[in-house]
Amino acid sequence: MGFDTFIGNSRIIGRLRAKLREDRFPHGLIFSGPEGVGKYTCALMTAKAMNCAVAGPADFCDSCGSCNKINAGLHPDVMTIGVEEDASVINIAQIRQVLSTLDFQPLEGRCKIFIIDPANMMQAHAAPALLKGLEEPPENSFFILITVNAHELLLTVRSRCQVYHFSPLTIDEIRGHGIQDEFLVRWSQGSIGKARSLDAERLKARREVLLGFLEAAAGASDEDFREMLGASSDIARAKQDFGTDMTVLAVLIRDLLFLSEGIPEQVINIDVEARFRKLAARLTSERLIQMAEFLRVIESSVKGNINRQILFDVMGLIPSET
Ligand SMILES: [Zn+2]
Repeated sequence: MGFDTFIGNSRIIGRLRAKLREDRFPHGLIFSGPEGVGKYTCALMTAKAMNCAVAGPADFCDSCGSCNKINAGLHPDVMTIGVEEDASVINIAQIRQVLSTLDFQPLEGRCKIFIIDPANMMQAHAAPALLKGLEEPPENSFFILITVNAHELLLTVRSRCQVYHFSPLTIDEIRGHGIQDEFLVRWSQGSIGKARSLDAERLKARREVLLGFLEAAAGASDEDFREMLGASSDIARAKQDFGTDMTVLAVLIRDLLFLSEGIPEQVINIDVEARFRKLAARLTSERLIQMAEFLRVIESSVKGNINRQILFDVMGLIPSET
């Protein structure tokens, strides 16, 4: 047990353990990187190492009273600050609450650890308030800020923290987590969180519809236009699948780009590769890039009340030459 059970990002684990051994652990840390690669798990592991009664200082036993309490979310010195129910941001009151406890000694453990997740959701005034804690931290208090992109945090906050950039896991590392379905392994795109939560059957069903749409849109000449419209009507009707559809389309276009650029080892949808090759042969890279860019426009306007049918039709009609 201990840090050895963490899969992926071994250099970060190595750096953290070296710091823990040095006994001069930074009071502010930022764990930045994509969703589902273990940033929060790693923050909890760090908190366990800092308070473990058995292993340490650079590891944890995962079974002592302290480790068990942290695993159960019941350790009084390890606190996670997140967006509360019915709120959209981490508000300043939550940060003030943290600051008000800084002068007190830990209740049970050696160190107090405050995990702020997602740190980029701090309300405008909350982040500057946090600075006070980061500027003059008591000896035994530590902050771990978790975010997808460290650059979304205030520069003044960033400059007082050590930043650790987490990478997506490799395909082998995802398999190492016990994911056996090769479709899920590849679709997770390096996120174990995603691999565990994806619904393979639903994804495959949507992929079938969208692949059909792309096949129709690829030859959006007059004769194919009718067919393409039929396919996009199916998509537009499936309102609850719209977010999934956007993701699936983005992955399909990405795969087609890899194929047309001659990098087949990067293809995610290997189970339909033959069909993909046929489609890739009918689409230029320029056309695919245009489609990918258009998808980004769609994604950013999804919250607006945009007519889905129109969006899909327009995408099929993007001219192959600019
Ligand atoms: Zn322990």
